[in-house]
Amino acid sequence: MKKHLLVANWKLNGSIKMISQYIKCVKSCLSVLSKKNIIVIAPPTIYLSEIYKNLNNIDIFLGAQNVDINLKGAFTGETSILMLRDIGVKYVIIGHSERRLLHNETNDILVKKFDLIKKLNLIPILCIGEIEKNKNYNQTTKILIEQLNCMFQVLGKSVFRNTVIAYEPIWAIGTGLSADPKYVQFIHKFIKDYIAQHDPTSIKNIIVQYGGSINAINAEEFIKEPDIDGLLIGSASLDSKEFCKIIAIAE
Ligand code: PEP
Repeated sequence: MKKHLLVANWKLNGSIKMISQYIKCVKSCLSVLSKKNIIVIAPPTIYLSEIYKNLNNIDIFLGAQNVDINLKGAFTGETSILMLRDIGVKYVIIGHSERRLLHNETNDILVKKFDLIKKLNLIPILCIGEIEKNKNYNQTTKILIEQLNCMFQVLGKSVFRNTVIAYEPIWAIGTGLSADPKYVQFIHKFIKDYIAQHDPTSIKNIIVQYGGSINAINAEEFIKEPDIDGLLIGSASLDSKEFCKIIAIAE
């Protein structure tokens, strides 16, 4: 099977106690695998350093769940991309539907974040996706085009080179109702073709992953599809054994 990007998004969960046990479990699972996949753990910001210490230079990457649009200054409560880079973060998730809906993360803000992450040589994971009503009215591709176009319009046609797009239909996140893998394959192909229309070169180095109620039972059906390059896993990634099973399935 090809190489996949597997990202564990812990959301607002985790503890110091959980971290050592979790990393131990993932390390031991990786020790018997080929290590061709890219594994990323994205805990709440406060635990990034603790995870980094526990990783001890092994092949697991650190991901952040958010970043501010400012580099430094009077922005109480925020975390800058310089700080994330300083503590070993490589990937930054932006535009998660929970942040779009609950924290007013607009496309304009996301363009700034995306640009900053790339300028500092980290890798953005841009989440895009439609609500159930859009899907029912066949508006999915229209919504995705809007979310992609805001990047093209401001940052140019090669904006998606060396980046990650996470297709996360909002109706599938945290609901236990994952999308149909064939439907996801169709959408991923659409996303890649749309990006290729702007910049054919992007296609060689863009990763399009799926997120939405993935678990150890359904992961294989997604992983098998040619244009599903990885998975963004929420709830199921909180259980280290389940996350390890998903890693093993993607081998
Ligand atoms: C997510 O948080 O990005 C996600 C896909 O969550 P879940 O796997 O719980 O649906």
